[in-house]
Parts: sequence; C-alpha cells; structure tokens
Amino acid sequence: MLFRQLFEPVSSTYTYIIATNYGREALMIDPVKEQTPTYLRILKELDLKLVYAIDTHTHADHVTALGELRGNTQCTTMMGEHSQAECVSVYLKDDERINIDGIELQSLYTPGHTNESFSFYLHKGGPRMVFSGDTLLIRGSGRTDFQNGSAEASYHSITERLFTLPEETLVYPGHDYRGSTASSIWEEKRYNPRLAGKSLEEYVEIMDNLKLVNPKLMDVAIPANLACGNV
Ligand code: FE
Repeated sequence: MLFRQLFEPVSSTYTYIIATNYGREALMIDPVKEQTPTYLRILKELDLKLVYAIDTHTHADHVTALGELRGNTQCTTMMGEHSQAECVSVYLKDDERINIDGIELQSLYTPGHTNESFSFYLHKGGPRMVFSGDTLLIRGSGRTDFQNGSAEASYHSITERLFTLPEETLVYPGHDYRGSTASSIWEEKRYNPRLAGKSLEEYVEIMDNLKLVNPKLMDVAIPANLACGNV
C-alpha cells in the first residue's frame, strides 16, 4: 500500500493519501485548501489518479480542499450523510464501503466532536488503520463544545465503535498538537487519559471543563466549509 501522512502546521491538521501503488487510483482524507498545490504536485509525481476526497466532518479550524480538488481532478467528494456542506458529491451512510483497487474503507458514524463526524476504517488492502478525524485523538479526543457536539455521543462513539475495532488497528487522527503521528486502538484503550478506566460521567466531566478558546479561523472556516471551501 502507498500511504502518505501530510501535516498542515497552521491548524496542526493531518491529511492522508492512500493508494495501492504508484500509477493507481488514490483517495484523500481531510485535505486543507491552502495545501492544494502541494497535493496536486504529489499526485502528479506519484502518478496517482485521485478518485475520492473525503472530509471526516465540517472543520472549524481550516478550510477544506474538497471543492478545489474536485475542480482540479474531477474526483468524487464525500462526507457523512448528516453534513450540511454543499459541494459534496456523495453523502455516506454508516457502514458503507469505499473501494479503490483492492483497498476498502468502511464508514463509521462517530458523532460527538460534531453531530456529523465520521471515521473511516481501512480493513482490506493494507494494515488495519482507522482515520478517526477529531473523534479520537492520540491520548485525547476532539472538543465537544460547539457544532452540535456532545460529550455523551463522543464517549459512545469512541468506546462502542472505535474501541471495538481490532486492537492492532492503527489510529490516524485528524490533528495532533504534540508531534505524535499515529497510535493504535490497543494503546488508546490503555493510555488515553480521558478514556482509560473512565465512566461516561467522568468523561463528560472532563469534556465540560476543558475551557478551550475557539479556533482562530472558526468564523471563516465553518461558513466556507459549508460552501465548497469558498471563503
Ligand atoms: Fe474538528
């Protein structure tokens, strides 16, 4: 499998490119608009044909590249069915399959960070991986205090959907603010301080007391992300 994890430093966002090999079809997860020229260069250099561009959720901290990528490559853009974003070619339901060559991703509806967040579980064509968006972060989880977030829903999504995946599954999140690049379900079940040994009530208490400031780009990013990435 050909796999690239790209980092956008302004919003600490991870973007993923997945394909079976050079010269084949590819898909991307959570691309950032400002990085579009870099993505197009990489796709050209690796001779990849972008087939799908997927957002795990409506981002509040960066503008999506879905619109630009679709305009440039005629790829199919995808989000979960609860997304209000325009410019999405296919709205995914829970437990759908996305295929390129021999690689298969399963869509998992994992609300909590937002009420429309999805994760994507790669279980065929490569090592088991889950692209958890902001639902599950490395030793953390996505905030639940805006965009119809819910700490209860987040807890259920993580413990009942993500933590029930095979433990060897690698976790590739939508962000990391401390330089970690990947984890596994095994690790997060044991060492995620918000979740390991924590009840629903304890998790909600933690999430209700994070006292985070709003993302700098929030007032620009959310409207733009509902409108094809047009600011
Ligand atoms: Fe987010």
